Amino acid sequence: MSQEFDYLVIGGGSGGMASARRAASYGAKVCLIEGGRLGGTCVNVGCVPKKVMWNAAMIAEAIHDAKDYGFDVELTQFHWERLKSSRDAYVKRLNGIYDRNVNNAGITFVSGYASFVDPHTVEVNGERYKGKHILIATGGRPRIPDVEGAELGLTSDGFFEMETLPKRVAIVGAGYIAVELAGVLHSLGSEVSLFIRQRQFLRQFDAMLRDSLMEEMYEAGIHIHTGSLVRCIKKEEDQLSVCLQQEELKIKKLDAVIWAVGRDPNSDSLGLEHAGVQIDEQGYIIVDEQENTNVPSIHAVGDVTGRIQLTPVAIAAGRKLADRLFDGKKDAKLDYTDVPSVIFSHPPIGTVGLTEDEAHDQFGDDVKVYNTRFTNMYHAFTTRRPHTAMKLVTVGAHEKIVGIHVIGLGADEMIQGFAVALKMGATKADFDATVAIHPTSSEEFVVMR
Ligand code: FAD
Ligand code: NDP
Repeated sequence: MSQEFDYLVIGGGSGGMASARRAASYGAKVCLIEGGRLGGTCVNVGCVPKKVMWNAAMIAEAIHDAKDYGFDVELTQFHWERLKSSRDAYVKRLNGIYDRNVNNAGITFVSGYASFVDPHTVEVNGERYKGKHILIATGGRPRIPDVEGAELGLTSDGFFEMETLPKRVAIVGAGYIAVELAGVLHSLGSEVSLFIRQRQFLRQFDAMLRDSLMEEMYEAGIHIHTGSLVRCIKKEEDQLSVCLQQEELKIKKLDAVIWAVGRDPNSDSLGLEHAGVQIDEQGYIIVDEQENTNVPSIHAVGDVTGRIQLTPVAIAAGRKLADRLFDGKKDAKLDYTDVPSVIFSHPPIGTVGLTEDEAHDQFGDDVKVYNTRFTNMYHAFTTRRPHTAMKLVTVGAHEKIVGIHVIGLGADEMIQGFAVALKMGATKADFDATVAIHPTSSEEFVVMR
């Protein structure tokens, strides 16, 4: 006999958890199925432990700067093991909080991996569960390229398991994870080589952001190898080397190689064929704007759908779906435009809206751009002198702001508020009419000419 629910949610990560709890708050009978640790990627091997490592790296930088501010401090030793143990304990606490949240919401929790039997039924550990509605929120996993010795490399998951700080490390990739891990490891004391196969990294971002970050990373001493496709990893004694498509360049004596070349959706072991759910050629589940698959009883949100792969996006989509299915809000859907994002690089990047190139593609010559670049006052007399750079992209006679981009100290905390202004349709004149807060970096956004 199978147990019956209003809502079966597969995956207890950002999207699944949020949707299950929202549905339960409306009185729906909900079952949440999770094969791994509650909280999913973000809590266990993503945003949360990554931000802890970024905070540690920012502290290491502050210690370097402290001397310039008159403090008699020296960075003599950094205990990676101590940090890892505190970080792991914090994540474990969060797992416990998630567990209690599920219980308190009256959600039935099933531990194990689900696969479909039919459009209303899944099986977990030999037991069957039926749902009027089923949500697939199974996220993704790091991609490992098909090259010789690929298994000798780690992924971002492996990064969080590392017991010691690698002295020499190679990172392969050109997205968020590659630049974030390169920055963290460099600031904590590793010698970092970053291999990107094109001429630039972060190619989907505004050119000002990626050019500025690349300049800062070169300046900081990260070895960036552009146009370098890694063809193999080899192990010699206890150390690794990577070889590239261009035969002449081979980097040796590495303690670790980390793949950061993208992620694949967790859709292949769900038995989707038993329910008839359609996927695209990369395995992402195809959904419409209200998160419906082609099967009326089955929905999907988050990374497994291949759209913007960010935790708040998965959460918001999951909640909107629950509002629609269980609270009668028939038009509820997430607006996927103008989603702000931060890259926790060194220095960090904040971005929302269109890049300058995208604005020109959409609006032709009707685009006006404001740029500024300066040294944050914090760095006025420090030995390290990273820059801050900002860009406003506007369109039309009223100079409606369609893109806001910033790299520099504080960018991570700056962009959220500016994203509200952009989403509300602010114009350059609205920015100009706002009195600046002095002395800050963010004030530059309201005084640009
Ligand atoms: P997930 O959180 O991945 O959850 C999916 C869950 O489903 C997992 O727990 C998995 O075990 C479970 N599952 C899979 N298959 C099954 C099955 N068959 N049965 C049962 N359970 C199953 N985003 C940000 O917004 N900010 C950041 O700073 C940020 N940093 C990141 C850093 C890293 C290193 C990584 C990898 C990602 C980061 N992200 C960040 C992205 C963010 O983690 C994801 O976008 C988010 O977790 C997606 O949520 P989700 O619910 O779609 O999937
Ligand atoms: P991304 O998709 O961001 O970047 C991966 C990039 O690696 C590709 O775009 C590609 O760039 C490059 N690449 C692909 N294959 C190879 C290869 N064989 N060799 C070298 N380079 C290759 O993936 P990530 O894994 O970095 O991150 C996944 C997602 O997780 C992100 O898109 C983001 O949504 C989310 N995330 C968010 C964070 C945040 O909010 N701060 C932090 C971390 C992750 P190219 O074509 O230019 O070579």
